[in-house]
Amino acid sequence: MFPTRNIEELQSSLTRCVKCGLCQSVCPVYATQSGEQNFSRGKISLLRGISEGRLTLDEKSIEALSLCVGCASCQGACKNEVEYINLLSAARKKINQEKGMPYIKKFALKTFSKRGEAENLVTYGSILKKIISAGRGSGKGLELKFPIHGISKGIYYPPLAEKSFISRKGGIHKAKNEWSRLAFFVGCSSSFILPEIGEAVLNFLVRNGVTVIIPEGQVCCGTPHYISGDPDTSNKLLVENETEFAKYEFDGVITGCATCGGGLKEYYDIKDSTGKPRPVYDFNEFVVGNLDRFEIKQVESDEKVTWHDPCHLVRLQKIKKQPRKLLKAAVGESFKEMESPDTCCGFGGVFAAAKPKTALAIAKKKAERIETSGAGTVITSCPGCVLFLRMGASLHGGKWEVKHIAQIL
Ligand code: SF4
Ligand code: SF4
Repeated sequence: MFPTRNIEELQSSLTRCVKCGLCQSVCPVYATQSGEQNFSRGKISLLRGISEGRLTLDEKSIEALSLCVGCASCQGACKNEVEYINLLSAARKKINQEKGMPYIKKFALKTFSKRGEAENLVTYGSILKKIISAGRGSGKGLELKFPIHGISKGIYYPPLAEKSFISRKGGIHKAKNEWSRLAFFVGCSSSFILPEIGEAVLNFLVRNGVTVIIPEGQVCCGTPHYISGDPDTSNKLLVENETEFAKYEFDGVITGCATCGGGLKEYYDIKDSTGKPRPVYDFNEFVVGNLDRFEIKQVESDEKVTWHDPCHLVRLQKIKKQPRKLLKAAVGESFKEMESPDTCCGFGGVFAAAKPKTALAIAKKKAERIETSGAGTVITSCPGCVLFLRMGASLHGGKWEVKHIAQIL
């Protein structure tokens, strides 16, 4: 289950912070705006003061606690086992209880906690997009039919699915020469926004002998709600998902979303219809763990190909080598690392909607690193990162393409 502890119950974590500052240099927010309150050491001091009654939850402290992508870079760098993400969730829970959640966050989280509401949103969104844009969104940005105040031509806006991937493809996809049966946890972004990623994961697995079950009643994994300080909704979604997956028989659960994978591995206990607990695999982890079973397409590329480590893949799941192994198998010598491939893209789920200025400043910094690498294609393994790396490219005037790893295999 997702933890529901209050800040007071996380006292030991607060006192473990020795103020060494190791978390400062890895924080993407601090890289765009300096100030002690903008990285975890300052936020932890603030929380300690609040929990000891020395400070109050005023406007300034709320702003400091909202300026965090939830990337867990600080937690990864910390040598003192400060549970920063749990502290952040507990702090935001307190803010929600005492001051209420900002409207935009509330709207996004409420929509994605109910499948029906999310389905309606994509239907209306895709209709609106047809009216205002000259073409379905592409990696190059929105082509407007006519100028609209506040919407910039050339900025990448996500191509909402006309119908969600889960409602189109839910059910069992039997593979010829089946050697494994996996339940696919699709995730909101691959279902409602970039369904081509869901298709790529599904097709690659089935083509290589894995029967894929897509439980039709699956909902959001609940991680965005947890990071936003609403663990009760996260746990409601967790129970819905565990109940839905328990209707099927399978060997394990697979996901192509780094954030869903992090949440499922940490908080879920997924059992299949036989009652056995089943492991959760990230897409890269499963493919590399069974590499002799998969045929990896060789991709001819004149341009360099680089890799972006999604925060929740590299830090929460410690998956770093596997995608590089896959990329080298697919594109050979064309693979080239960019500088600091594991710095955040700026997305952070609802963070991008709540704090767009900071999110875009982080995306721009990432885009500069990609530009310097000279890559023509950026590969990653999180639909949210795909969206935001494209956003960064459009802001920076970058010409590179961004794809999920399943789309090149
Ligand atoms: S790295 Fe850990 S112990 Fe050091 S200042 Fe940051 S949170 Fe505190
Ligand atoms: S989670 Fe990321 S953005 Fe938030 S304080 Fe830690 S490093 Fe900075």
